[in-house]
Formats: sequence, structure tokens, C-alpha cells
Amino acid sequence: MEDINVGIDLGGSHVAIGIVDKNGKILDQYEKDFTVEEKKDLINVATKYIIENINMLKKQYSFSKFGIGVAGAISNGIILKSVNLGIVNYNIKQKLEEATKVKVIVKNDAKCAAIAEYKFGDCNKYQNVLFLTLGTGIGGSYIYQGNLMAGNSFEGFEFGHMIIKAGGVPCRCGKNGCFERYGSILVFKNKIIERLNLSYDISGPELREYMRISLDKIDDLIEEYLNDVSIGISNLINIFEPDCVVIGGGFARYDYILLAPLKNKLLNSNLLFNKRDVIKLQTAKLGNDAGIIGASIL
Ligand SMILES: [Zn+2]
Repeated sequence: MEDINVGIDLGGSHVAIGIVDKNGKILDQYEKDFTVEEKKDLINVATKYIIENINMLKKQYSFSKFGIGVAGAISNGIILKSVNLGIVNYNIKQKLEEATKVKVIVKNDAKCAAIAEYKFGDCNKYQNVLFLTLGTGIGGSYIYQGNLMAGNSFEGFEFGHMIIKAGGVPCRCGKNGCFERYGSILVFKNKIIERLNLSYDISGPELREYMRISLDKIDDLIEEYLNDVSIGISNLINIFEPDCVVIGGGFARYDYILLAPLKNKLLNSNLLFNKRDVIKLQTAKLGNDAGIIGASIL
């Protein structure tokens, strides 16, 4: 049987299981979008889906472990808290190991993405790289002098839950005005969906097509979204002074419309403490696959 790695990306709206070769290339992928109904029981739906697929893959491939990146704070295989999945203290490692008899390694999804990007993307020429995932929520991590930084047991780097607007929109974490409530791609997409009167279950490609033909109807929403994103990113740049900022998550699929104006805003809107003429800001090379690939090499 072929010797491969298996990586899983589990987020608030999607789960994907990838079969990945030793060079970080995804050979095959099984994925599922959660329906509105399934989101009410998301963790059980996701766990069942993972178990069924791993048990199926075991018959075709040889692997002694698999990694899983989860949107949330993780410690020793336990999801301590995930606002995206709506759970606390869920021992996903134990559940999956019992049902699949395969070793499971669990890590925060944004950290998985950073590991993959730094190994297989095109930012490893830099020593200090700030990773920001703008997806259903907002996650992040920081590579300092070539190594992934992590805090104490909760690991930290909850960039999505820094407050960018005092008394702002309530966040699922219980606070108000978190970056994630303004800068996640989900918030952006929902605003577009509302403005264009579309269904919340619309697919990404369909939504992007609607956006393409209705740009004049949504340009103020794009402007507003980028204003909020640039506040969050500039706070992080002011703290870390990274050599490069890499943005992943769903944002990368909208880079053609968002990236250049975002750069422009950061350089010209008086948000950066240390002024500069150039800013190294790029989207994740591995796109949405980074989470899977990173999880596969844990
Ligand atoms: Zn929050």
C-alpha cells in the first residue's frame, strides 16, 4: 500500500480530509460543507464524517497517524474552546483514536496553516512571518526567527479576538467588537449576500460570479471591510514588525479584489506606527489547502 500522510482541516463551515504526499502535495481530498441544519450538531456530524472516511482510507493507504487542524484553542488533543464549532472541552483525539485505532495529533488550524506555508509556500526566505487566517473566523500565528511561537497552555495568538471597536458587535466569545466580527471573510460574504439578496447557502464560485457582475453595488461594502481589516492588521504589524505578512483562509479566494487595495490602505491611512513605502503582504500560496497540508505533517 502507498505510504502517505493524512491531514484534516476542521472549521466552522467545512471539513476536509486530504491524502498528502511527502512533498506537501494533496493527492486526493474528501470534503464536506456543513448545512445550516448540520451546524446545530456540528462536532458530532464532523466526528462521524472523519471516522467513516479514515476507516475507508485505512483500506487503501498506509499511514500510522493523522493530523487535524481545528479552529480553536487546543491542548493535549482536547478542544478547550472553539467559538467556530460552538464547543468547549471536547476530547476529539480520544474519540477519533478509539474509533479509528490510528494515532491522532490535534493542533490549532491557523498554526497548521502557518507550518505548511512556511515549509512548502514561498515565505521561508523570511525569518519573521506573521500569518493571518481570514476565514469563518480569524486565526493566526507567528514565525519568529524561523520557529513557530506559542504561548502557554492555550497557546495564544488569538488575533481574531483582539477588540478593534469598543462596544462593537457581540462576538461568539462573549466579548464585543472583536476583529473577527469585522474582518473574517464570513462577515464580508454575509454583507455581500444580504446586499445582493442571495441565499446564505450559495457556493463560493457562484458568489464570486455575482460579485464580479455587481461590483458597483458593493464597492462601499468592500471599502468598509478593508477599513476594518487594515485596523486589525496594522495593530499586528505595529506589535510584531514582521518581514512579511501572509493571509490565508477564504480571503485568499477574493485576493483579486481585496489584496491590492488592502496594501494601499495600510501604507496610506496613517495606521502604521513605523512608516514605510513598501509592505510585504501576500496571500497564502497553498490557499485553503494549507490547513490540510500542515495537519498532515504534524
Ligand atoms: Zn471574540
